[in-house]
Amino acid sequence: MSLLPIIEAPDPILSAKARPVREDEFGPELLKHLEDMTETMYAAPGVGLAAPQVGDGRRILVADPGFEGEDGEIRRGIELVAMVNPKVTQRSKDKIKWEESCLSVPEFYQNVDRARVITVQWQDGTGAPHEKEFEEFASVVLQHELDHLEGVTLLEHTSRLKRSRYLGKRRKRAKKAAR
Ligand code: ZN
Repeated sequence: MSLLPIIEAPDPILSAKARPVREDEFGPELLKHLEDMTETMYAAPGVGLAAPQVGDGRRILVADPGFEGEDGEIRRGIELVAMVNPKVTQRSKDKIKWEESCLSVPEFYQNVDRARVITVQWQDGTGAPHEKEFEEFASVVLQHELDHLEGVTLLEHTSRLKRSRYLGKRRKRAKKAAR
């Protein structure tokens, strides 16, 4: 297993729409990639990670919304999902709002309106199909990761002003680090 470097905004891969994983890409290599993504997510630490965040422009995500319990307990693996070519087939009309953060947008917090319940269809690393309903925090996490596959980050869910202020700050810091 190896940890993958996490790409941070602004980077064009985070704004690009991811492509579907092809039939011939399923198998051991993809399974290993899913494991690497999972380890990278836990090491960050985070509750979700989408492939574009590690420089892979394919429709893949991993998430473990139960990773850190409400009591701060670490419960690794219980709610873990690794999704290839995920598709939302149903979303509830009632919404939920959460203050979200993102491994690719460090030190940034944004309230986003999400569907409270979604149903997702996906394939695992072997190509087998799955379908499941997710609600509350799990639903929020998955919608956040699904956004990444459309090239959307929290910075697209915020005001122009807040976005340009954040990116300005990041640019200044990068310049300082380069000196
Ligand atoms: Zn994110």
